[in-house]
Amino acid sequence: MDFISIVLTADRSLMSNYSNNIYIGFLSCIPHNICPDILYNRFCPPVPVNSDGTTSYPILALRTVESICNHAGFKDVKIAHPDCLNKVINFKTKIVGVSCEDPLGIGPATTSWSSIFHGIPHNRIKFLQLMKNIRQLKEIFDFKVVLGGPGCWQFNEDKMKILGIDYLLPGEGERSIPPFFQSLFERDFPSQLIQPDSPTPNAEEILPILGPTNSNFIEISRGCGRGCKFCAPTTSGQMRNFPIDKIVTDAKMYLKYGIKNIVLQSEDSLRYGSLNKDFSIDIDIILNLFSTLFSLGMKSIAITHASLINFAEQPEDIIKFTRFLRKNGMRYYGCQPGIETGSPRLMKKYMKGKCYPHSPEEWHEIVIDALKLMKENHWYPACTLIMGLPDEENYDTQLTLELIQKIDDFPALYIPLFFVPMSMTSLREREKFISEKMTALQWKLLLSCWKHNLKYILKLYNLETAPKKSIQILVKILTSALNFIIRHKGPKMINRKFYENKRAIIVK
Ligand code: SF4
Repeated sequence: MDFISIVLTADRSLMSNYSNNIYIGFLSCIPHNICPDILYNRFCPPVPVNSDGTTSYPILALRTVESICNHAGFKDVKIAHPDCLNKVINFKTKIVGVSCEDPLGIGPATTSWSSIFHGIPHNRIKFLQLMKNIRQLKEIFDFKVVLGGPGCWQFNEDKMKILGIDYLLPGEGERSIPPFFQSLFERDFPSQLIQPDSPTPNAEEILPILGPTNSNFIEISRGCGRGCKFCAPTTSGQMRNFPIDKIVTDAKMYLKYGIKNIVLQSEDSLRYGSLNKDFSIDIDIILNLFSTLFSLGMKSIAITHASLINFAEQPEDIIKFTRFLRKNGMRYYGCQPGIETGSPRLMKKYMKGKCYPHSPEEWHEIVIDALKLMKENHWYPACTLIMGLPDEENYDTQLTLELIQKIDDFPALYIPLFFVPMSMTSLREREKFISEKMTALQWKLLLSCWKHNLKYILKLYNLETAPKKSIQILVKILTSALNFIIRHKGPKMINRKFYENKRAIIVK
């Protein structure tokens, strides 16, 4: 198959190292009118490009697909830099595989911003630009465009046609990609444009990656098993822990590139390897994983998501783990847990697994205990909240607001996200939440979160990235501007909404 090739790529909003701070990736969800290109490019520069138009630092999803293709015997696989597709795509190219996360800018994080500020988000702009370039090349070179990744739910056949996408390949690719790509090579084109979700691979089927990624990710598990109804099935489904040999192979690969700061990607990082039925952490397995990685030569090992319940339930284990990290030279630690709501009613309805084995009524206490322990041990989390869950009443919002007020003194970020009924979830038929539907109380909640965040954002940013003085000043100016907007516009937004609500009640 020397005469055919597969080209993999993703849009520019994904292909960045985000100034070595994965939280800065959230800028891609912000509309262009409040984060102009000059600012966006400063904080989210493109990944480096090689002279042949490829990049050695793509997103993890592309490295995963590259590895699947390689293992399946497709040898000529290139990962193209989105700005240099014309250097990589040629008459040999038979498949262009595009990975996407929130391509149309309609996912929860993006909707929260674009709904309030009414602009086009960077992720949408960059994705549409990429697809325009691909369509132009497709007219010259006869290849098929296959779209995969967690953002597949945003497309139907009409949108695919407009954007020049031939096939949609949702779900995990380990089992579906090899036979599907083979059929395209043999010109046995499947008639179904949207392929069914492929069977879920076992943990042992996940392969090591063949090169580094933009944010030094190593995937250690998939799924979390807690089953929240608003979450994608791949994410909420049973947790699959990858063999330590696969993780060690990935780590050795990074070390070969001189990379000693890695990020372990998981939906519930500290539960890696645990077989405990009550969803608790197995501290021995975690210590073994981290000590193996440190002994290989890693200097810093960050994690992505973690659960507040594990912090609240196993304080001794967390303290032991934190001491271990400190002994290995790490001074502070971050993670992304979900608070989501302060309402036991909504928790019971949509996410009772989040506080398991405790009851939703205990959630406030769990969150407070977890954040207190984090503060004492130098953990700095970025916690998400979901606003506008179906059937949310003022009473539920009030409880969430009360929870946020109780945890206002903790050095954490509280990120309110708008509910989006993603098509692969059981809430797909429910209504999307947008700023026009916000009540005065929901405005108050949102502004309380951001007022809180502005107290800590600079400190957390400086901890995470240790930036140059000029960047520190720039971030300070930006946070002050945001602070000004919230202080001056916030009360007006809340009051306006209050009077609108009142008028609506009178008219009724
Ligand atoms: S705990 Fe988090 S990752 Fe797991 S199902 Fe709930 S929202 Fe999804």
